Amino acid sequence: MDVRNDQPQGLVTAGQRAELMRQGNASAVLRAVLAHGPVSRAEIARHTGLSAPSVTKLTSTLVGAGLIGELPPMEPTQGRPRVPLRVDPDGTVALGLHIGLLRTTFGLVALDGSVIAERELSHGELPDLTPARITRQAAEGVRAFLAERLGGRRLAGTGVTIGGWVDDAQGTVVEHGPLGWRGVPLLDLLAQELPGPLLLEQTVRAIARAELWFGAGREVDDFVLVFIGNVSGAAIVVDRTVHRGPGAAAGAIDHLPATDDPAVRCPQCGTGCLGVTASDTALVAQARAAGVIPAAPQASGPEPDNLALERLVAAARPAGTGTGDPRAQQLLRLRARNAGRAISTIVDLVNPSRVVLAGGILIADEYLDELRREVACRSHRGEDVAADIVPAVFGSRTLVRSSAVPVLERVITEPLTALGLL
Ligand SMILES: [Zn+2]
Repeated sequence: MDVRNDQPQGLVTAGQRAELMRQGNASAVLRAVLAHGPVSRAEIARHTGLSAPSVTKLTSTLVGAGLIGELPPMEPTQGRPRVPLRVDPDGTVALGLHIGLLRTTFGLVALDGSVIAERELSHGELPDLTPARITRQAAEGVRAFLAERLGGRRLAGTGVTIGGWVDDAQGTVVEHGPLGWRGVPLLDLLAQELPGPLLLEQTVRAIARAELWFGAGREVDDFVLVFIGNVSGAAIVVDRTVHRGPGAAAGAIDHLPATDDPAVRCPQCGTGCLGVTASDTALVAQARAAGVIPAAPQASGPEPDNLALERLVAAARPAGTGTGDPRAQQLLRLRARNAGRAISTIVDLVNPSRVVLAGGILIADEYLDELRREVACRSHRGEDVAADIVPAVFGSRTLVRSSAVPVLERVITEPLTALGLL
């Protein structure tokens, strides 16, 4: 074994330490621009505690790398004109790509989390949903999209998200029930096809990371993101890091108890769990069975669940002189309560500063108070907890942004490494 005598193992050299410090300072400058931009160099110095010459040096590196750009100088109130800096939307961007059950969605996202352009590819035209088929379609679509839309921007990498159980460190999809995938080496399949570096993340965790950097998590360092849509999942954020656990298996909440109704039993866990009572799929099935929305296929084929859900919510809402369908209202109220019961278990276990809700549950937001009341009623934290249950800032259209966040996060926290400047 080669052990150098002049450097104790595990310690960094003075040169490495200086580089780490430069990287940390560059990241601090970038974060100040993201949080306060457009912002002058003097204000950056104030926000970061760095010296004026350091800020000047670091900002010129970041401008040169296309991460931030200068706006026209502002008239000075005293002394020299101030040149505001902001994130450059035509500079460095990330590609975000989400593989869903019905479609693959991808797009370009700027460093501040804003989506520049996005595109959808339906899986409806594919003969089957095998990993090879879906990744080939995605690769071809992305190539054409980038040729049209990237322009002179610099691409920092591609973030890929998919639902189910995802082991991001191994780059694999351990299990994706709806697609019927098991043990799929997704990053290997995409490695030659998409612009690298490639980072894989599970959808719900990616949504949590997007909220952490650009949304509801900017004000708190710990929260739980609860996604209730066609599937359910939670991402537990502690000290601004998403908890994963062994095999990245954390966050499965489908089988948390949600109702005592003996008529509702999950074939897998045998209880009235979140999955069988409160998912979008379960809600649509209940509405169809009760005749609140059409059970029979539409003329053009069976109505997709997302449209059926919108139809149910529309039926519940008062329109004109009508008061809305009370059966639809009751179903939505019950779903909110059942979700609230499951969430109260999470709240008591984790005691997060916030519960951030995402997914189809946000479509009928007039029932969120019902959900809050149920959590408050069951949690040992009592009524105060209700105010800490908030909808995700980015709502339901967040897949492209969330998918890109792992790449953006790398650029923001390690700008010099990410751009090959270290
Ligand atoms: Zn269950």
